[in-house]
Amino acid sequence: KQGEDREKDKADRATSDQVLDQRTRMILLQMINRGVVSEVHGAISTGKEANVYGAVSHDDQGEAIQRAIKVYKTSILVFKDRERYITGEHRFKGGFDKGNNRKMVKLWAEKEYRNLRRIHSAGIPSPEPLSLKLHVLAMSFLGDRKGWAYPRLRDATIEDQDEWRMLYIQLLGLMRKIFQVCRLVHADLSEYNILYHKQTLYIIDVSQSVEPDHPRSLEFLRMDIKNVGDFFRRKGVDTLTDRMIYDFITAAGLPTDEPAMGEALEKLYESRPDEGDEDAMQVDNEVFRNQYIPQTLEQVYDVEKDGQTLEKGGGKDLVYSNLLADSVVEKGQDEGQEQEDDSAEGTESGDGAALDSD
Ligand code: ADP
Ligand code: MG
Repeated sequence: KQGEDREKDKADRATSDQVLDQRTRMILLQMINRGVVSEVHGAISTGKEANVYGAVSHDDQGEAIQRAIKVYKTSILVFKDRERYITGEHRFKGGFDKGNNRKMVKLWAEKEYRNLRRIHSAGIPSPEPLSLKLHVLAMSFLGDRKGWAYPRLRDATIEDQDEWRMLYIQLLGLMRKIFQVCRLVHADLSEYNILYHKQTLYIIDVSQSVEPDHPRSLEFLRMDIKNVGDFFRRKGVDTLTDRMIYDFITAAGLPTDEPAMGEALEKLYESRPDEGDEDAMQVDNEVFRNQYIPQTLEQVYDVEKDGQTLEKGGGKDLVYSNLLADSVVEKGQDEGQEQEDDSAEGTESGDGAALDSD
């Protein structure tokens, strides 16, 4: 009985700095009872959508092993933006039940768990997912034995210019591997969701990652490429154009393992027509970021079918609607009103091609 009280104490302690609901405390307690972890500590990170807690487990020798526990928040407000990642994802056919918060965050944690498993088992440096219960995910800890987490790439102190370049090449390789081997696009990749330790990059925060057949996956990939390029350029790295990286990541014929991937990238550097010409690169990036790329085969231009869609007033549902004159897109909108719900169901075709053009 006393032991039980003590265990409950441990679970409670984790919640003292951030108020967690009864259910979450029960899940943490359950994880302690099942030996997934033996102690839960304070928050490593408190975010909009989730908190990450440090935890400790003990091996047979009684040696402490650090763990991380990500607890998704069940409050609805922060999840409103999440639907775009779930909609159109065949692994989540049921979609979002917006009326049910708990189901939603459970789905979200489940997504992170599955994506992590894929990414980790492909040999990509990342947390190993250990246990999942509702909206609570236990994973291996990326940090030292005392419980200090590795810094985010954003906060890493790296003086050596050559190391920045090496990390850039390393990351492009990881992005290709995630796409080709794991069949995923991270979809929130930036210096905030990469941890750094000893010249190695660790990929984290993959709950929003989508498969390539997601209607917006390539749009998300381009966003990732832009974020990565912008960051490393700020660090003074001579970067490749977005277009070159996009082709490198999506090309079927190239290797997916090091050192071959790194070598392929070096060849790309050598093949640049206007090597090092910053202005030319900037222009190409702008052009590429605004260019339309069909997301899936079904979205490839089909004159007949698209003409019919237009007739019915579904012009805004066409992936290239942003390229059509407004008058054409709006035409027949009124009489086609009842069509709207139908055609928008399951996909977000409405703004499928509305690529970021900032
Ligand atoms: P959020 O959705 O809040 O962005 P993240 O998955 O990015 O959640 O995690 C937030 C922070 O928690 C990370 O920046 C990192 O500092 C820390 N963190 C997350 N997972 C781990 C882990 N497995 N090991 C160590 N620290 C982690
Ligand atoms: Mg994050």
